[in-house]
Amino acid sequence: MAEINDKMEKLVSLCKRRGFIFPSSEIYGGLSSCWDYGPLGVEMKRNIKNAWWRSVVQSRDDVVGIDTSILMHPRVWEASGHLSGFSDPLVECKKCNLRFRADELNEMKCAGCGGALSEPRQFNLMFKTFMGPVEEQAAVVYLRPETAQGIFVNFENVMTTTRRKLPLGIAQQGKSFRNEITTGNFIFRSREFEQMELEYFVKPGTDMQWFDYWTNARMEWYRELGIKSDNLRFAPHPKESLAHYARCCTDVEYHFPWNWGELEGIANRGDFDLKQHAKFSGRTLAYFDEESRETIVPCVIEPSAGVDRSMLAFLCDAYDEEPDKDEIRTVLRLHPAIAPIKVAVLPLSKKETLTPLAQQIYAELRRHWACAYDDSQSIGRRYRRQDETGTPVCVTVDFQSLEDQQVTVRDRDSMVQIRVPVAELKVVLAEKLSL
Ligand code: ATP
Repeated sequence: MAEINDKMEKLVSLCKRRGFIFPSSEIYGGLSSCWDYGPLGVEMKRNIKNAWWRSVVQSRDDVVGIDTSILMHPRVWEASGHLSGFSDPLVECKKCNLRFRADELNEMKCAGCGGALSEPRQFNLMFKTFMGPVEEQAAVVYLRPETAQGIFVNFENVMTTTRRKLPLGIAQQGKSFRNEITTGNFIFRSREFEQMELEYFVKPGTDMQWFDYWTNARMEWYRELGIKSDNLRFAPHPKESLAHYARCCTDVEYHFPWNWGELEGIANRGDFDLKQHAKFSGRTLAYFDEESRETIVPCVIEPSAGVDRSMLAFLCDAYDEEPDKDEIRTVLRLHPAIAPIKVAVLPLSKKETLTPLAQQIYAELRRHWACAYDDSQSIGRRYRRQDETGTPVCVTVDFQSLEDQQVTVRDRDSMVQIRVPVAELKVVLAEKLSL
């Protein structure tokens, strides 16, 4: 257990120290369960989102993207069931007023002071706010607790404007908000977070086949981006715990240092969402199937992933320490596609003679990749710094480079160094970075 906390503590400290993740509003003491992504964190987060977008949208013929607003008509949440049902059972300590999720407790007493707990009551997790200048009931709107509903309410718009046939997926990434009763484990559970969601509409009868397809495809995505297979598993939901509309649901879980935790849920939601929105909006949300000459309501398969949780899983999985001479080398073995910086250009010394060539190489490489330039402190320390933030390759320019137009390319994981002609650098790096 001590070792586990140790790893999380080290990771949280690295994230803070190296500019991946900061507590929100830190100079005011922080805001519980909200986080800010620093210069390296924002690069890494974008890389994760881009890798997902590339895999789920751009590399496919059958998925299109969308970007809908966070605030939506309040009727959306009536239709979706969120207003009546998106809640967790809340209990409160009668002595110290600490609050807990009843379904997460092992025993019905306060984990803080041991006091007695109140009876559970349902607590709705949606954040409420007001639209316009008057704070009255009619002006209440909600911060979306998932991005999916923005997709369902645009089903008709997308179908008619793209003139596509089923199966058709609509994908979206963006912020979601949940007023979680308990938060924690760093960015695993927060009140403001980002999701990557796909609603894949299919003909009824083909839904289970597509459910299996997406369950496997999504697991493969994490594996291809370097997460160790042993740390990933499927967690199918038992029939009795499924949401009433869901026909089937399987989570992809990661073995976090504290326990297994959900990264993504893949659900077969049947035709529930389109039917509900058709009922509440009065529109016909259906599809005319040319083959059977019938109008049908498609079923939908939903892979729903969290950006922040994936990022935490990528960080945990990549974090490594190994003995190196008398010291410990900390290295983030991130897949190059996810690493915030791909190449660091390091002139061996600050001497002016080296600067022009090093700067020229840096300028050329940053046209293609996110690069860093670092000329302060010893070369050994600079390598360590890059290892710690997961930079896959360092390019070192030394005095010999001025003579032979060759540079040293150092691999983060093996620490093997090879000499490469400057003219071939781009090709060599392209190969190393496209793993
Ligand atoms: P949990 O059971 O952990 O609360 P959930 O089953 O309610 O999660 P979903 O509604 O299926 O989650 O949301 C899809 C994904 O969105 C989750 O797999 C997770 O990656 C992410 N997610 C949900 N809630 C949060 C949160 N509070 N903080 C960070 N990510 C979240």
